[in-house]
Amino acid sequence: MTRTHRPHILIIYTGGTIGMIENPVTRTLQPFDFTHLIDNVPKIKMLEYRIDNIQFTPIDSSDMDPDGWRDIAMAIADNYDSYDGFVVLHGTDTMAYTASALSFMLAHLDKPVIITGSQLPIGEVRTDGEENLITALQIAAATDSRGNPMVQEVAILFENYLWRGNRSTKMSADNFNAFKSNNYPKLAKIGLGIHFTEENLRRPNERRPLHINTNMDRAVMFIELHPGMTQPILHHLLSTPGIKGIVLRSYGAGNAPTSPWFLDEIRRTVESGVVIVNVTQCVNGGVHAGRYESGETLTRCGVISGRDMTSEAAITKLMYLFGLGLSPAAVKSRFDVNLCGEVTL
Ligand code: ASP
Repeated sequence: MTRTHRPHILIIYTGGTIGMIENPVTRTLQPFDFTHLIDNVPKIKMLEYRIDNIQFTPIDSSDMDPDGWRDIAMAIADNYDSYDGFVVLHGTDTMAYTASALSFMLAHLDKPVIITGSQLPIGEVRTDGEENLITALQIAAATDSRGNPMVQEVAILFENYLWRGNRSTKMSADNFNAFKSNNYPKLAKIGLGIHFTEENLRRPNERRPLHINTNMDRAVMFIELHPGMTQPILHHLLSTPGIKGIVLRSYGAGNAPTSPWFLDEIRRTVESGVVIVNVTQCVNGGVHAGRYESGETLTRCGVISGRDMTSEAAITKLMYLFGLGLSPAAVKSRFDVNLCGEVTL
């Protein structure tokens, strides 16, 4: 089956550096409107796609939140049947969180949702935004040999690579290749052509209609371990009122202090019904709780393993699972399921 119509792509513009301009007084970059952005990429017309857009109030992605994720997910769901693919323009700072959140919210996705942005504004001479936007559109329009969408998941396109969204992390505040998926191989390499690694692309097990769940529970937090953390500080963090889920950013293969006061604090928190997920601070590799005594003790306290998940995926997965209204026990068991390619089991 080959596509008989021109690719029909919806661009959802949320803001970020790609569309920013410099404020002449303060010299800082500020979000600007979509017309300015698109006027700077006249080459888009050469693609001969049908392109529509939805423009949100443009923001720096530091201001992105679960309401923003919901609005993006709804825009995709409301227009799902009318488009071949979706390109989301987004700031880089929280792009990996948005990609992770969308991957959970959009269940049974079988069309491309390609998120991109840039390090330099589209109006600058050396901008990376033009190339990123054009490549994202081409990826959103790409089909496989059977005429099905080549990408059927949420992915981040940045400079030379296409990465799985819920495996990605922003690695650099300066480099054009700003993103990387440290525990999952690339979905495509962008050079002279776009070279997809088809065996790495996600394919839904069964075809089912898109189903969205946009309710994210915000009662979650990170706790980052560091040598010298005191009991009063840890106690204060673990006692945060209303908290339901914690992503504990531990050392190495998932290791943490073994002192009795530390383990007592963790055990007491787990017993009170808080779900604690262990994720490593290392950018590469994951939690192997049984490898060291210092990791095994966390497991004995009831902490669950985030395996090789990114911190971004772990925190948004907790938000999503609690948002479904699940009990702590149900969240724990669902957390250990690979929902959409975010974890290696
Ligand atoms: N602060 C910007 C943002 O995340 C950075 C960027 O887009 O690259 O919106």
